[in-house]
Amino acid sequence: MPQELLNFLSILLTFENNFRTNQSHCVFETQQRQPMKYVGAHVSASGGVENAPINAAEIGAKAFALFTKNQRQWKSSPLTAGSIRLFRENCEKHGFLPFQILPHDSYLINLGHPEQEGLDKSREAFLDEMQRCEQLGLDRLNFHPGGSLGKISDEECLLRIAESLNITLDRTNGVIAVIENTAGQGSNMGFRFEQISFIIDHIEDKSRVGVCIDTCHAFAAGYDLSTEAAFKATFKQFGEEVGFKYLKGMHVNDSKKGLGSRVDRHDSLGKGTLGIDVFKWLMNDDRFDNMPLILETPDDTIWQEEIKLLYSF
Ligand SMILES: [Zn+2]
Repeated sequence: MPQELLNFLSILLTFENNFRTNQSHCVFETQQRQPMKYVGAHVSASGGVENAPINAAEIGAKAFALFTKNQRQWKSSPLTAGSIRLFRENCEKHGFLPFQILPHDSYLINLGHPEQEGLDKSREAFLDEMQRCEQLGLDRLNFHPGGSLGKISDEECLLRIAESLNITLDRTNGVIAVIENTAGQGSNMGFRFEQISFIIDHIEDKSRVGVCIDTCHAFAAGYDLSTEAAFKATFKQFGEEVGFKYLKGMHVNDSKKGLGSRVDRHDSLGKGTLGIDVFKWLMNDDRFDNMPLILETPDDTIWQEEIKLLYSF
């Protein structure tokens, strides 16, 4: 099939899926009590993306994250038609709609790279990631904004990230680029809410940009979430500086390092410096409804328990 026809088909399928997402909200609202919280984990897609929904269902997840290619390599072979079909079938079989799925891009990509070669390579790889989401019928892609490597100013880096996004959004359809807040390790951008809102301000099509807040990263970046007052204040600030309408997912992690450490080390729920209460407040706050709430905690043997624990709140 010529590439244009394939692209066209994938756009059609994205629309169909997005439509199904909206429709399902109506069905839930009118026919049954809506399961508002969609909790899951970043599951393995080893052996093919089609295995991710199966792996998610096995641990009782109602949401999942995945890499659609090897996250530590620049190039991966394209998704096969068979793999795409099976992914869609398995998602349908296990009840996963696009709004419950938060694919994550490769760690190598730096959309704010200070040098042209690195920037071009990153933009090419990010376009490929977005196109993979289009092919799979997914409606959002989570990415780390990037860093200056100490070679350009923070503002120049943020402008580059926004430009990278505008270029990619222009060449794709139906997939929201979801900026993840970072711990602010090294020269990584996106650890302050105002940096995230600066990027959003420079995006031409604001319906195609979103945000994912990682609780571990926020805490490490200096946003306290360990007391109820601090939790309220942090998300009040998020609402004012970024806006909940942009929130498209959460990464639900405890932190090994302390408040403001700027070090990104995830811990299992209740085992780190954040404590367990933040997750109770989160599970009982309707601002986090109807989006993927994803565990990226280090011990995958207890994900099933962690999911149960979150639902028990
Ligand atoms: Zn994360």
